[in-house]
Amino acid sequence: PSIKLDSRCNQMLRNMEASLTARDRVGIQDFVLLDAYMSESAFLDNLRKRFHENLIYTYIGTLLVSVNPYKELNIYNKKQMDTYMGVNFFELPPHIYALADNVFRTMLSEFNNHFILISGESGAGKTEASKKILQFYAVSCPSTKLLNNVRDRLLLSNPVLEAFGNAKTLKNDNSSRFGKYMDIQFDHQGGAVGGHILSYLLEKSRVVHQNHGERNFHIFYQLVEGGEEELLRWLGLERNCQNYSYLVQGDCAKVSSINDKSDWRTVRGALSVIHFSESDIEDLFGIIASVLHLGNIKFEADVRGYASLNNDQEMHWVSKLLGIPTQVLKQGLTHRKIEAKTEEVLSPFSVDHAVYARDALAKAIYGRTFNWLVNKINESLVNTDFSRKTVIGLLDIYGFEVFYVNSFEQFCINYCNEKLQQLFIQLTLKSEQEEYEMEGIEWEPVPFFNNKIICDLVEEKHRGMISLLDEECLRPGEATDLTFLEKLEETIGGHPHFVTHKLADIKTRKTLDRGDFRLLHYAGEVTYCVVGFLDKNNDLLYRNGKEVMRHSLVGLTEILMSKEPWYVRCIKPNDAKQPGRFDDVLVRHQVKYLGLMEHLRVRRAGFAYRRKYEIFLQRYKALCPDTWPHWKGTAAEGVRCLIQHLGYKPDEYKMGRTKIFIRHPRTLFATEDTFQVC
Ligand code: ADP
Ligand code: MG
Repeated sequence: PSIKLDSRCNQMLRNMEASLTARDRVGIQDFVLLDAYMSESAFLDNLRKRFHENLIYTYIGTLLVSVNPYKELNIYNKKQMDTYMGVNFFELPPHIYALADNVFRTMLSEFNNHFILISGESGAGKTEASKKILQFYAVSCPSTKLLNNVRDRLLLSNPVLEAFGNAKTLKNDNSSRFGKYMDIQFDHQGGAVGGHILSYLLEKSRVVHQNHGERNFHIFYQLVEGGEEELLRWLGLERNCQNYSYLVQGDCAKVSSINDKSDWRTVRGALSVIHFSESDIEDLFGIIASVLHLGNIKFEADVRGYASLNNDQEMHWVSKLLGIPTQVLKQGLTHRKIEAKTEEVLSPFSVDHAVYARDALAKAIYGRTFNWLVNKINESLVNTDFSRKTVIGLLDIYGFEVFYVNSFEQFCINYCNEKLQQLFIQLTLKSEQEEYEMEGIEWEPVPFFNNKIICDLVEEKHRGMISLLDEECLRPGEATDLTFLEKLEETIGGHPHFVTHKLADIKTRKTLDRGDFRLLHYAGEVTYCVVGFLDKNNDLLYRNGKEVMRHSLVGLTEILMSKEPWYVRCIKPNDAKQPGRFDDVLVRHQVKYLGLMEHLRVRRAGFAYRRKYEIFLQRYKALCPDTWPHWKGTAAEGVRCLIQHLGYKPDEYKMGRTKIFIRHPRTLFATEDTFQVC
C-alpha cells in the first residue's frame, strides 16, 4: 500500500499545477475551500460554472449539493462505482457515490446508524439521487446468494412504489406523491440483509382529481395500456384511458417521456420477485380496476332532487371486483345512515353528496391498497436473524410545495418540510458544536435563522394552528372553515409569520382573499385557501394523513435523531425540465431556502477539514521527509511535524484530542476535479 500511496501522492502533486489552471473553468469542488469571503453571487457563479461543465455535484464539507442536469450523464456506471469505492471523500471529484461510500464505510468502522436526508423541491432530483445510492449499495456491498435476494427486492421495490405512488405533475413527469423513508439493514460485514419502508402523506386526492396537464398515479395508465387482454377482460376494462373519468381530468393521459406499456412489464416482473402471489396480484389489480369503474359511476337527480344511479353496469363491476353486494354499495353511495335511538334511518344524498361519497370511497380504497402494498414489500424485506445490525436510512420526502391554489395537503407537506429543516439546523449545529467540545476546540457560533418559530406556530399545544383546527372540528354544525380562519386571526393574528386578508396590507402590502391566509415559511410565502380544511381534518379518510403529521412526524424525527446525518441538497436549474439551462433567479432562491449559505458559514467559521491523527498520518506521511517512511513518535506529533512542513501557520489549524482540524485545507486533501487518482 505504501508504494501505491507514494505514486498516488506524486500523481496528485503533478496534477496540482494543472488543476490550478483548470479551476477557472470548472470552479471549485468544495465551497468551504474558496479562499475569499463567500457571497451568494460567488456561490452561484461556482455552481453555474460547474453545471455548464456537466459537473453537477459540489460539496459544502460533507454535504453534497446536486444540480439536476436533465440529461443522462455517463457517470453512473460500474466503473465509476469501482473508482469511488473505498476512496477518501476529498480525493476524487464530488459524486453521490462518494457520499454513499463514505456513509457505508463510516457505518462499518464505527458500527453505528446513519441516515441520508435528500431534500429539494419537486423535480430537483431527490428520487433519482436515492435510487443512485441504492444502486451503489446493491453493487458495492459484499454479496452471497442469500443477500442477493434481499438486494433484488430492495431494488425492485422502487419501480413498484413509483408505479403506485408517483404521477406526472407540471413540475416533474415522475413526481413522487408520497414521502418515503427506507432503512437498509447491514450485517457486520456490510452485507445488505434486510430493509424497511415507511411511507408518508400519500396524495390521495389525486385519485379523483388532477389539475390540467397532470395525471393520476402511473399504475392506472400502465394497467390500461399494458395489461394482458385476458386480465383486462376479467377486470371489465377497455384498452383506452379516455374511457375513464378518473384518468382524464388533467387532459394528458399520454406523456411522451413515459412508456406505460414497458413500465407495466417492469412492475409485473418486480411484483413476482417481491413475493406477490398470483392471487395477491389478482386482488391488487381487481382493486385498482374497481377504482376506475367507481369513477365512471354517474348520478342523476330524481324527482325529489335526490341522487340516483343512471347506469348499473359500472356498479356491477365494482361490486364484483370488491366482493361487496351491489345493493350495499348502491345504498352506501346514495344514502347516509343515521343512528336514531333504536333504529337506523337512511337519509338520501343530493347528487353533490353522492359524488363526494363516491370520490371519498375511491380515495380510501386507493390509500389502503397503497398501505397494504408497502406492508407486503416490508414482509419480503424483513430480516428474521437477531444478530446485531446497523442501518443506513434514506429519506426522500416531497419538498416544499407552492401551487396556484394551496390547500390542506400543501399545508401538511410544507409543515413537514419545516420540521425537517428544524432537524437539519439542530443536527448540523449540534454535531458541529459537540465535536469541537469533545476535541477541546474553541469556536464562535454563527447566527442563523431558526425556523422553530414557524414550527411552533403550527404545532404548539392549545394555540398552534393544528390545535385550533382540532378545536373547531369539535364543534360540528357551528364551525366552518371561515370560523376557523377567524379563530386563527384572534389567536395568532399578531404572529410575524401569519397573515390574513385583514392584516395583509399592513404586513406585506399584498392583498389576500377573504378565505385565504398566508404563512411566511422559511422557504418563502405560501397562500393557503382555507376551504376544505375542517372537512379534510375531520374526514376519517384523511385521519391517516393527520396522524402522519402528529404521530409519525414525531416518530420520524426520533428515528432520525438517533442516527448520524448526511445531506444531499438537490437543486432544480430551470422550470422547463431542459438540459443546459441555469436560471439564476430560480437557483438563487433555492440556495437561500435550502440554507446553503448558512451551512457554508457554519462550516467556514469552524474547520472545514478534520481527520483522526492516525489516518491522516498514514495517508499523507509521504509528503514530509521526517515522517516518511516511518514515524517513530505518536501520531499527533507526526501530524504536527507534517503539517508544519507543509507550511501551515499556527492559526490555520488546531490540534484536537484525537483529530487534526484544518480551517481551509489547500490542495492535496482538497483536490480538484482534474486529479486522476490511481
Ligand atoms: P424529485 O424526486 O426531486 O421530484 P426526480 O428525482 O424525480 O425529482 O427527478 C426529476 C427528473 O429529473 C427525473 O425524472 C430525471 O429525468 C431528471 N434527473 C434527476 N436527477 C438526474 C440525474 N442525476 N441525471 C439525469 N437526470 C436526472
Ligand atoms: Mg421524487
